[in-house]
Amino acid sequence: MELIDTHVHLEDVENLGDAIKRAAEVGVIAVIAVGSDYDSNLWVMYEVRKYDVGKLRIYPALGLHPWNLDAARIETTIEFIKNNIEKVVALGEVGLDYWYKNVRKDENEKELQRKAFRRILDIARENDKPVSIHNRGAWMDCVNMTIEANVKKAVFHWFTGPDDALKKLLEHGYYISATPAAAYSKEHRRAILNTPLENIILETDSPVVYSGEASEPAHVVKALKSVAELKGESISVVAEKTTENAKRIFKIN
Ligand SMILES: [Zn+2]
Repeated sequence: MELIDTHVHLEDVENLGDAIKRAAEVGVIAVIAVGSDYDSNLWVMYEVRKYDVGKLRIYPALGLHPWNLDAARIETTIEFIKNNIEKVVALGEVGLDYWYKNVRKDENEKELQRKAFRRILDIARENDKPVSIHNRGAWMDCVNMTIEANVKKAVFHWFTGPDDALKKLLEHGYYISATPAAAYSKEHRRAILNTPLENIILETDSPVVYSGEASEPAHVVKALKSVAELKGESISVVAEKTTENAKRIFKIN
């Protein structure tokens, strides 16, 4: 069995070397390390490769997370992303989060998020890169902006949004990714049920804590099991299909 963890904040994973070894032991062959801001992008760009072990390869993605929009550093972050675009498999984590802290009631903050997101979407289109998207409370805005930017490949990571936004993103050939929350989150389970296996990939969003336990890339197996259960498919079929999808999206061989 070969698995790909398509969205991980590796710089925050404790005892990373050991965690990566455990991932390799359960069949993880690739991990996509996403960046969130200037510092994590630097780390992803220069540090991740040191952790490759056995057959497992770590691939960098550079992002600008809606929680990390330090206005003073947006330009330097975008400059860094542009300068390193050839070396990354995706842009992410980026997106919109209207439920974040004070953003909910602040139109200026929402507009700042949209501006940053639009810049990244343009870079993705110009360089034919897939995008790993955070979307919370901005469901249709986020989907519409991705479509309007004419981005060809997009993954709406850990999708928990309403059916209309899901339907629209699927009509445009985009993807969602399933996390270990697929074991218990009603919204996430519904999204997975309503998405064909052809449009699903797996991830952990490590080190996010699920049911009291900090995650690591080896836990992508939990996402796999939940998707198999929800879809009524065997674990091996879901593993094969989702890994094939991820390889195609991120151009990983
Ligand atoms: Zn994330």
